[in-house]
Amino acid sequence: MNRILIIAPNWIGDAVMSQLLLANLKVIYPQSQIDVLASPWVAPIYRACTEVRQVIEARLEHKQLQWGLRKQLAKQLELNQYDACFVLPNSLKSALIPWLANIPLRIGYRGEMRFGLINFSLANPSKTNRPPMANHYLALSNVLDHSQNLDINQSADPKLNISLASQKAIDAKLVAAAIKEKIIYVFCPGAEYGVTKRWPADHFANLAQELIANKSDAHVILLGSKGDRELGEDIRAKANNDQKIHNWCGNTSLDEAIALIGMSKALISNDSGLMHIGAALKVPQVAIFGSSDPHHTPPLSDKAKVIWLNLPCSPCHKRECPLGHLKCLKDISPENVFEAIQNLH
Ligand code: SF4
Repeated sequence: MNRILIIAPNWIGDAVMSQLLLANLKVIYPQSQIDVLASPWVAPIYRACTEVRQVIEARLEHKQLQWGLRKQLAKQLELNQYDACFVLPNSLKSALIPWLANIPLRIGYRGEMRFGLINFSLANPSKTNRPPMANHYLALSNVLDHSQNLDINQSADPKLNISLASQKAIDAKLVAAAIKEKIIYVFCPGAEYGVTKRWPADHFANLAQELIANKSDAHVILLGSKGDRELGEDIRAKANNDQKIHNWCGNTSLDEAIALIGMSKALISNDSGLMHIGAALKVPQVAIFGSSDPHHTPPLSDKAKVIWLNLPCSPCHKRECPLGHLKCLKDISPENVFEAIQNLH
């Protein structure tokens, strides 16, 4: 096997989880070159994977067929003569490009009835007893060569690397913001999923105050997307410290965010894609879970501490609290999280 194409998932956390698959493919097929077709918002994850030769970016939007663009990409990719393609998303349309590009081995989960488009498939996992995402992807590396006899429950942790260019870019940003101290706590207060995955802004603000009061040379940087900017402002206003608390939501590229998280003293996040980046960089971190299940998408790192109250109603996987009180998150106090941070190493 010389040339492998990966069709990337659309979520940052899933992309991080897929690094283990790439690493295992390199072990099974050491001579192979791995390219990844990814949307611009997850492409930086694959640029941080040493196994990847080339990341091909394409604006393939969620829930849109974009037939013309897919045909054009397939034509371009056919020139690379891939031997195999691993299709990580489950949608029918995500399997179109490798089929149109005449890639002979097209591997993936059966997904949305993709018979023919995927010609080496695994059955979809049960909805009630889903394996951790990393193992879900890793199992695909076993599809073509069963002799590997891979035990997918014995997986290592995902690993990302910070590029020199990203490190330089973030160093320049820190200088421009007059942040000289290297005690930086990164907070990621957003979660695209909804409020049931977002620890309250008041709690983030109180935690920021406590951390700064505890270490006078510490700074707190809020990271997230443009959509989290308002939430970041709210936290900053509530914490009332413009000198030490910086709202960078929407102001950093994902490449820069990876570099910043990599140099932080600790990362405090919800169950989000940035949480998985922290785990893959082996940064000390506290991951706060509410309505979701930390057994399914845990931060895979021995430096991570998960805080989850495991209430009788949890995990409910709802985007809004059906009970109206959001106790799974509100009852995790800033003091709990502060204490967890003090015990990280
Ligand atoms: S029902 Fe329970 S787990 Fe779900 S959001 Fe409400 S408090 Fe959280």
